Amino acid sequence: MKYDTIIHNGIIVTVNRDFDVINDGLICIKDGKIEIVSSRPANYIPSGAKDIIDAKGGIIMPGLVNTHTHLPMTLLRGIADDLPLFDWLNRYIFPLEAKYMNPDNVKLGSLLGCAEMLLSGTTTCCDGYFHEDAVAQAALESGIRGVFGQGVIDFPAPGIPDPADNIKTASRFAEKWQNASSLIRPSVFCHSPYTCSEETLEKAKQIACANNLLFQIHTSETKNEFDMIMSKHGVSPVKYLERTGLLDERTLLVHSVWVDEEDIRIISGHGSKISHNPQSNMKLASGIAPVPEFLKNEITVGLGTDGCASNNDPDLFKEMDVAAKIHKVNLLDPTVMDAKTVLQMATIKGAKAIGLEGETGSIEKGKQADIIIIDTDSPHLIPMYNPVSHIVYSATGSDVRDVLVSGKITVRDKKILSLDIDDIMDKVNLLGAGIKRDL
Ligand SMILES: [Zn+2]
Repeated sequence: MKYDTIIHNGIIVTVNRDFDVINDGLICIKDGKIEIVSSRPANYIPSGAKDIIDAKGGIIMPGLVNTHTHLPMTLLRGIADDLPLFDWLNRYIFPLEAKYMNPDNVKLGSLLGCAEMLLSGTTTCCDGYFHEDAVAQAALESGIRGVFGQGVIDFPAPGIPDPADNIKTASRFAEKWQNASSLIRPSVFCHSPYTCSEETLEKAKQIACANNLLFQIHTSETKNEFDMIMSKHGVSPVKYLERTGLLDERTLLVHSVWVDEEDIRIISGHGSKISHNPQSNMKLASGIAPVPEFLKNEITVGLGTDGCASNNDPDLFKEMDVAAKIHKVNLLDPTVMDAKTVLQMATIKGAKAIGLEGETGSIEKGKQADIIIIDTDSPHLIPMYNPVSHIVYSATGSDVRDVLVSGKITVRDKKILSLDIDDIMDKVNLLGAGIKRDL
């Protein structure tokens, strides 16, 4: 066979540099990579491949890139809503994590999270949590691509009862996963500037630099955090991180809500990236990140959903819809954050934000075949004047029919092939019932 898979009979939204849209497209895949992206020749009859996927006139697009997740938190979905961040963390999330987030449960929650993401069209995620080894193991079994960071925090955390061990644990994780799989990239995830000391931040960044890893950190999420850092260090969280030597092009600042013009210039000057999580920021009433200003200052911004306890699902289609709208109403300007810009943030810019733009985020010859197909044969997706409008404003994750990661079909006809989803759901329901009795 000349190819492993052929996809045809659909509109390809490539999200390449020229944002080409191919109305009647053809994609040929070999050894996990895209070999041909073109128009379908007249009277074309697909042959010469092990698998042939007829997109049936639907949209063929790059798999989505979720730049901020805490996968095991699927287990705590809906357990405590409608609370301020600090109450939510201290009264519910931290105590429940301490009690229930052992490696087995972390893996179970992550399997559920990976299944949800694949089924809703996300083929790459960037995760940070504790027992991250179990998260990466779950991701590997699911077939999703991702960047995974062992959490670092100066408090007792799941798997690290003594914070003195946090750096050692992060370092061991990075070493173990450095060359373990082409789909998994290790990373370092510091919880935040207010939960890690200056020394911890510096040591964690050293591990990232020594191994050329992405360094992720929640930054300037809430006014409360801003005030804490300001009163302790006399500067904003972004300026504090700059002073500590943490900002470079391998740094991903998650949230960046409470930032001023100078902070934005600093982030841009260092080439640091931002993960924008509008639904989490809305739900916790953290504020609105000035994303149009970030883009004007040529900062790379990706989209993220955050954990399932603050969103409460990892559907990036919904996140795109919100990201496109929240800035329009905030600035009273319907022209900002147009659909094309938002789609780029959920694909190629997200990939760039986490250092994977050479592999994924667009449909181009030579890239990994991370591709999804949207079934557009639905009342809410007709008529179709502009596929990009439908992707951002009309479709949801449940419209995704087929998903390929590195050429491997992980979802076909809305069924996940890589995991036993019924078994995972049974186990999560059982665990959830136990947690509920304990509340
Ligand atoms: Zn987060």
